[in-house]
Amino acid sequence: MTNRAILLPDEQATLELGKRVAQACQGATVIYLYGDLGAGKTTFSRGFLHALGHNGNVKSPTYTLVEPYTLENLMVYHFDLYRLADPEELEFMGIRDYFANDAICLVEWPQQGAGVLPDPDVEIHLNYQAQGREARISAVSSSGSSLLARLAG
Ligand code: ADP
Ligand code: MG
Repeated sequence: MTNRAILLPDEQATLELGKRVAQACQGATVIYLYGDLGAGKTTFSRGFLHALGHNGNVKSPTYTLVEPYTLENLMVYHFDLYRLADPEELEFMGIRDYFANDAICLVEWPQQGAGVLPDPDVEIHLNYQAQGREARISAVSSSGSSLLARLAG
């Protein structure tokens, strides 16, 4: 299974999806989060980080572009590239270092980093529905396919 759609009737469902995806991650993983402002990308990230043991706030790092989280035995980097003026800025940030080790990277507005941002394992598109949201999840690497298989199980 490399593609699935999941209905998210309320905020709790978005948090829960973040938790389930976090629990399905094994090792270094890059997740792109697409969707309009308010679609739930940060809500998903909050559920994801809380599932991995982070207890504090999770806000979009809109001005700093990236927020690092040091968790029990892994690093999670949460990017929000909404305000990135030029993908080349990522080079100056040392983007490769973030993606080099065993870290998990969650990236809001990945289209802003096109051409410079490393490829993802999984893409999640969050879309507004009449009520709630819909998530479309696609695997775009073999480790992403394994992740989705674990998510289904
Ligand atoms: P983004 O990071 O995509 O801009 P946020 O996660 O910051 O979006 O904000 C999403 C808003 O929508 C929050 O107010 C959140 O409570 C709400 N929300 C999240 N998921 C859902 C859902 N499935 N249904 C309805 N509202 C949701
Ligand atoms: Mg956000």
